[in-house]
Amino acid sequence: MVVCILLAAGEGKRFGTKKQFVNLCGKRLLDFSIRTVEEIPDIDKIVIVLPKEDINLEITSKKEFIKIEGGSERQESVFNGLLAIKEAEIVVIHDSARPFATKDMFMEGIKNVKDGWDGSITAYKSVDTVKKVIDNQIMETLNRENIYIVQTPQTFKYEKLLKAHINAKEKDIKGTDDSYLMEVMGYKITVNQGSFLNFKITNPEDILLAQCICNRFSKEDG
Ligand code: C5P
Repeated sequence: MVVCILLAAGEGKRFGTKKQFVNLCGKRLLDFSIRTVEEIPDIDKIVIVLPKEDINLEITSKKEFIKIEGGSERQESVFNGLLAIKEAEIVVIHDSARPFATKDMFMEGIKNVKDGWDGSITAYKSVDTVKKVIDNQIMETLNRENIYIVQTPQTFKYEKLLKAHINAKEKDIKGTDDSYLMEVMGYKITVNQGSFLNFKITNPEDILLAQCICNRFSKEDG
């Protein structure tokens, strides 16, 4: 069984309001991900992680889904999601703050894990040069050939991701993504093709960019 955990329990501290419920081209941001995921035959069930106070939010989907409460940090929200789906073999984690993730990103990730990888994360090769800077001084220039910008969806073997989260909890390891928690366990993770357009809506101005993209997509759709 393949389960998708859709994260929508953020408080929107940087954004100023809960961005997952912001209206984009007539739809809540969260609904973009639900509409994409429900079209993926390999995904059997969706777990939608919401803030405690929004648990009664009206949601519709063609696919079976449950709603659960998130935690105070993203990592805790994922952990709550994992505890809610004991029957899964493969789990896909996706930030609802990325409305333009494509079906291919989900399908390629699931295929990679079915083919034997412990995990597959959506990423694309950096087109920019990346440097390490401390106190305004350049410390290191990283070899761009090996630098990837990491996104979601991220797909993993369920049992291994659960183990990685339990290990992180025991050792107080904090990761900005789930892959990191798997990497410290020595699990083998690969990449599936990401895109600049799959950016995460973080700051208020990101909505302007998102509006341009979805207006363009709706024109293409006719
Ligand atoms: O805050 P940030 O943009 O990094 O959040 C990434 C995703 O994680 C968002 O979709 C957000 O709703 C989700 N999140 C969550 N629970 C939290 C914090 C963030 O589900 N406590």
